[in-house]
Amino acid sequence: MSLKFINKLKNEQKRVVGLGFPSISTNFGDFPIDIAAEIGCEIHLIKAIKEFLKLHKEFDFKLILTEQDSKVLNVFELKWKEIKDDLEDFKFQTKKGNLLQLKSDLRIECRFIVVETTWRMKPGTNQLSKQIFDALGSKLHEELKRLYPKPGIVGEAYPVKVPKDSDLHKSEGIEQIIFVVSPNMNPSRPDPVSLEKAKELLKKTYDSILNAFWELTNGQEYRSITTIKDNVQEVSAFDILMKSASKPSSKISPESSRRTPSKVGSGGWNNVLLPYCQKPEMFPKSEVYYYDNEFVIIFDKYPKAKNHLLVIPRKQIDNIGELKKQNLELVRALKEKGQWVIEKMKQENPKLFFRMGFHAVPSLRQLHMHVISQDFISPSLKNKKHWNSFTTEFFIDVEEIERILEKQGEVKFNKAYYEDLLKSPLKCHLCDAKSIKFIPDLKKHLEEHWNES
Ligand code: AMP
Ligand code: ZN
Repeated sequence: MSLKFINKLKNEQKRVVGLGFPSISTNFGDFPIDIAAEIGCEIHLIKAIKEFLKLHKEFDFKLILTEQDSKVLNVFELKWKEIKDDLEDFKFQTKKGNLLQLKSDLRIECRFIVVETTWRMKPGTNQLSKQIFDALGSKLHEELKRLYPKPGIVGEAYPVKVPKDSDLHKSEGIEQIIFVVSPNMNPSRPDPVSLEKAKELLKKTYDSILNAFWELTNGQEYRSITTIKDNVQEVSAFDILMKSASKPSSKISPESSRRTPSKVGSGGWNNVLLPYCQKPEMFPKSEVYYYDNEFVIIFDKYPKAKNHLLVIPRKQIDNIGELKKQNLELVRALKEKGQWVIEKMKQENPKLFFRMGFHAVPSLRQLHMHVISQDFISPSLKNKKHWNSFTTEFFIDVEEIERILEKQGEVKFNKAYYEDLLKSPLKCHLCDAKSIKFIPDLKKHLEEHWNES
């Protein structure tokens, strides 16, 4: 290989990925700029990026905050100067200009840009938002409708590819737009949120943007978000609109640990399986065990037993609730793939025996079938919920799903009933041992079973 070619490869690999974004909500929702800067930039954005840098030192990216209004930029710059000292290699810049013309005006290429939208995925009052909808016209409306038919959720990110034949793509090099539904602080628009709520939601919005950026460029989960988002509440923009002003939080439901699956970039972990389906070739063998055009088989990242894998169809299907009779073949194919893995695993350790099936209420988006050995010996098995999710009716064998689809044509569960099962007292799945009250007792007991087998 020639030196020139190697250098070219290196340069390509090192191609800086740019994300251009406006100061969220300051125009769109009339968020007070000093507060937006403080909570959006300082507390969340910078903190998140610091962690991001620590985790992904090799990832060469740049974040360009772009605004037409220098006042807005000044506030961010001031805040930024206050805290940038302790950051070594930071790639955050502010630029006065139009986000849609960064390349032609300033010779800065951002493959990803962030644009605010409304809960109906329509252009809002903000100029940038109008410009983008003008520039891409009906194609954008159609694509948004197709990808995101449900009302948008405040704080979530909705990425859309920019058509290759559009000027934005050809001249400006913009490949994807990450739409966000940002919180409304404007009292003249319906149901403005309180300052406290808006702060939370603004943080969530920045989380979602970074998360989407990371997922789209690296095909992996952006880890820091999982920890930050835990106490953020999920609010649909539709809810906000429908909510009576006198009861500001009546429709805001606390986010539970097992959430309804949502869109990419919603804050991390519930979308982590998608990149495996989209680009399985990107992952090391230690993560992806096998893939073909239809399926990918990965090692569960937090295995609850000696062997624990997930068999996932690459076609996007959120969960078992979406399955219909016509998906029976897919379910059978999943089972076949599962049986194939089990054979492989048993060749290595004949003592193992397995079950394969689904959690009645999954925590991750994208249909995935667990293939799990029944020893349940693993440091990642840590609590009652873990245990009960694999050893009570909460775990539904693939054959059962097959039967339900054959008979009823769809899978409908009472979520509350199944979630209650997770609270059941600990009970050994192999014998009637009575004395198991706590997880350490259970673990000891499981070791005994393993040693006897
Ligand atoms: P559930 O959605 O409840 O069926 O289970 C999701 C499974 O995915 C759990 O067993 C987790 O341990 C596992 N998991 C969570 N995050 C990841 C990840 N990033 N990669 C692979 N597996 C994961
Ligand atoms: Zn037992």
